[in-house]
Amino acid sequence: MRRRLIAGNWKMHGLKAQLGEVEAIAAAAAANPQIDVALCVPFTLIAPAVAVAGALPIGAQDVHAADKGAHTGCTSGEMLRECGATLTIVGHSERRGDQHETGHDAWAKAVAARRHGLQVILCCGETAAERDAGRAERIVQSQIEKSLPDGASADWLTLAYEPRWAIGTGKTPTLEDIAAIHAIARAKLRAMVGDAADGIRILYGGSLTGANAVEILAVDNVDGALVGGASLTAGKFVPIIEAAA
Ligand code: 13P
Repeated sequence: MRRRLIAGNWKMHGLKAQLGEVEAIAAAAAANPQIDVALCVPFTLIAPAVAVAGALPIGAQDVHAADKGAHTGCTSGEMLRECGATLTIVGHSERRGDQHETGHDAWAKAVAARRHGLQVILCCGETAAERDAGRAERIVQSQIEKSLPDGASADWLTLAYEPRWAIGTGKTPTLEDIAAIHAIARAKLRAMVGDAADGIRILYGGSLTGANAVEILAVDNVDGALVGGASLTAGKFVPIIEAAA
């Protein structure tokens, strides 16, 4: 009942020279209409990507919690909408790490994105040290508790579980570990938003590739993927789209 979503996150990669990849990914998305596909690109590439993406939703990777003001270097939801973005990631672990963003920051950004009609992919996930200490489940529960806005529902919010130690490392959790965290996340969503939780997609992210996509996407409560490195080229991303379709 939950449509799969395969979302790419280009992080700080991508110049206009890569727009051909966007076009090829958009063509693959159009050829696989039974799933949703989206691409989150750097701010500077949103408008050029929108111009070539056809029906493929183009998103940002962050948004400011405020609508406007003295916030040097930041970008509001209204600005994202104006250049054609329809979604944004919030709370990515690289922002929690590099920019010291908190769960409350992710909450405020999700609320702002919603206010401007953007879809939200809200990220959570434990570090290696937290997993080694047996705290992965509690960390994910606590991150969801701190960052999930009231009234979250499937029509505007998607959750993404991305264990930090699996991002860009070629390491992935076991299928059992993915199932365990996704079940915990689903239960937490249910506790917070009731029946609406059943419609909310939970994506897995972290070293997902065409080679491991089929088995990871078959895990209970895995409703798609948030893909970093393997989304940068159509050659690597299209097999993931096809595996999900
Ligand atoms: P990789 O797919 O490169 O591991 O990155 C995952 C990620 O952080 C997506 O947001």
